[in-house]
Amino acid sequence: MDIQYLKGIGEKRAVLFRKLGINTTEELLLHYPRRYEDRTAQKNIADLIAGETCCVVATVGSPLTVAHIRQGLDLAKTHVFDDTGALSLTFFNAPYVQNSLLQGETYIFYGKTAENAVYKAGSMRSGVLVMNNPICEPVEKSGNSTGRILPLYPLTSGLNQGQVRNAVQQVLEKLPDDMEDVLPDDLRKQSGLCYVNFALNNIHFPQSYEELDIARRRLVYEELLVLQLGLLRLKNRRTKAKGRKFEPISIDDFYERLPFKLTLDQLGAISDCVKDMESGSLCHRLIQGDVGSGKTLVAAAVAVHAIRNGYQAALMAPTEILAEQHANTLAGLLEPLGITVALLVGRLTQGQKRKVRARIAEGGADFIIGTHALLSQGVEFARLGLIITDEQHRFGVRQQEALVAKGRDESLSPHRIVMSATPIPRTLGLILYGDMDVTIMKGMPPGRKPIKTFVVDEGMRGRINSFIKKLVGEGRQVYIVCPMIDENEEEGQETSVASVIDYAETLSAAFKDLRIGLLHGKMKGDKKEAVMREYSQGNLDILVATTVIEVGVNVPNAALMIVENAERFGLSQLHQLRGRVGRGEYESFCVLFLQSQNETSRSRLNTMQAYNDGFAIAEADLALRGPGDFFGERQHGLPAFVLADLSSDMQLLEQTRADARSVLEEDGELTMSKNRGLKNRVDHLMSRLDAGG
Ligand code: ADP
Ligand code: MG
Repeated sequence: MDIQYLKGIGEKRAVLFRKLGINTTEELLLHYPRRYEDRTAQKNIADLIAGETCCVVATVGSPLTVAHIRQGLDLAKTHVFDDTGALSLTFFNAPYVQNSLLQGETYIFYGKTAENAVYKAGSMRSGVLVMNNPICEPVEKSGNSTGRILPLYPLTSGLNQGQVRNAVQQVLEKLPDDMEDVLPDDLRKQSGLCYVNFALNNIHFPQSYEELDIARRRLVYEELLVLQLGLLRLKNRRTKAKGRKFEPISIDDFYERLPFKLTLDQLGAISDCVKDMESGSLCHRLIQGDVGSGKTLVAAAVAVHAIRNGYQAALMAPTEILAEQHANTLAGLLEPLGITVALLVGRLTQGQKRKVRARIAEGGADFIIGTHALLSQGVEFARLGLIITDEQHRFGVRQQEALVAKGRDESLSPHRIVMSATPIPRTLGLILYGDMDVTIMKGMPPGRKPIKTFVVDEGMRGRINSFIKKLVGEGRQVYIVCPMIDENEEEGQETSVASVIDYAETLSAAFKDLRIGLLHGKMKGDKKEAVMREYSQGNLDILVATTVIEVGVNVPNAALMIVENAERFGLSQLHQLRGRVGRGEYESFCVLFLQSQNETSRSRLNTMQAYNDGFAIAEADLALRGPGDFFGERQHGLPAFVLADLSSDMQLLEQTRADARSVLEEDGELTMSKNRGLKNRVDHLMSRLDAGG
């Protein structure tokens, strides 16, 4: 039913509800409280202690006196009593209480008590308890805004808690006792979950915290189960979907050209992908390996398989710099094997782009590397057989779908491989990659030494500067990262943050003999590339940069990473940054400057000192910041969770995963009547995903 037809909601108020995304009474019920206030505690006046917040049932003992203290400040006072004692009440600017509190009547008051100092003769001091601005209701109405656990809803301006509460109350009262439950009975009982009616009543108006927990557990379960069902169905559909069936071929000549042996993990990842692509079904695999684990070569090997099978392969990188670096590395490696590599990025001139596009369309380019530009209009592939996405978390679900749609010469979709260096905690992985097969690369190429990490403050500046000079003297290179001019920089950032440009100038003064380069997201593409190339060729000693270097660039000679204002970065991001050094044979270091005095910041950064393993850091990061911040809001392309909290609902997440499996084993298309409610929910969720979240 349209909420407009609820009592107390007319057209005008309905508009406010719509602002909150609530159009129907069903959506209103799904508008869960953000938090709750416990107003159940009730005490006798004699037992009150200053500073506590609770309810008191008491009778008004004197008429209210109102004093006009000054412009804009009216003070009303009275006192109330119960069988055990008396209590003063004061109200600031509360004209309504003057008419609503009557002497001799009994009310329930909810508020915080304080001790008012009273000076008596001889400077004896004793306290008198007072309750300031209590909420009051006639005692027979207790249970409305006092004497209960009060739900507090997300609001929008013009709408207050009472109005939302009232609307929800009306809908709950009308719920049929035998309303249809989304969860089938067997599943619900087997997991010890409550019935939908109980859940809805108690998530909104809990009788107790125990009942709230029971309600919440059930609703979180439902939310996660629906998501898992959706993801598993996507995955199942894909397994059934036919993919281009590749023939086994040898790529020994590729392996022979490499200056080193691939690690077992690299070989395993390649073999997983190749098996998928030779299976006849569609490959959709995530390769997750910490920074520096050598994913680029995995991509190259897999691409060679596709290309030797007569198809084109595409590699998408999150930044132009990275795309360019990949193109350079891979062209060097593959062109001698007779494979043509093409780069398509935004900074090319229109003419250049046209040429590259033509080569792609005619099949003159085998391996196409680019950024999102690959998705832009006008790129047609002659015979796209494989799409590799590097650092997947940077792309939304939508963009990936757009790329898949590119393989349109045949009805078959291209195989897809996603590479991520962001170690995803298991919980998030189940959600983000719930529809993919996963290969985890644990090992590192031999000879990698852990990067020595230090958290320091300004006091160490001099010593760090000497250290920079020493390393550069030995022929090494240094990165300095500042949290400023970023690709998504917002206007009006605080000026206290080191500005990269100023900073580079200051450094130039401090290190007169050193060659310093500057790289930030606001620079033009070709300028960026030029600086990056200078740095990777060893023509710069220090690169001052923003997080544009976060992903992927490879300079094995770089041995020191310095991060300014490190407290401003997420741990996983710091781990990525740190991964820019220690990629060669040299002992490498990471120095995190802590510019804030905050103890939490320090202990957070100490995690970086304690762990070198991206997975451990990711878990810590998730626990500290919650999933929203982990990727940045909405970057993962999934709808935000209403109730589920991925750091504390981990166990439910795993359970729903298993339960979703067994539901689909029994009823793959959710056509059984007991699963009708689930099917509706899953379809609804998937249509939201398709619409871009
Ligand atoms: P990432 O997984 O972070 O993308 P890269 O593919 O950029 O890592 O590889 C990091 C570095 O390790 C590169 O310099 C690469 O040449 C080197 N490398 C990759 N595989 C091996 C290997 N098997 N043995 C030695 N070095 C390797
Ligand atoms: Mg990489």
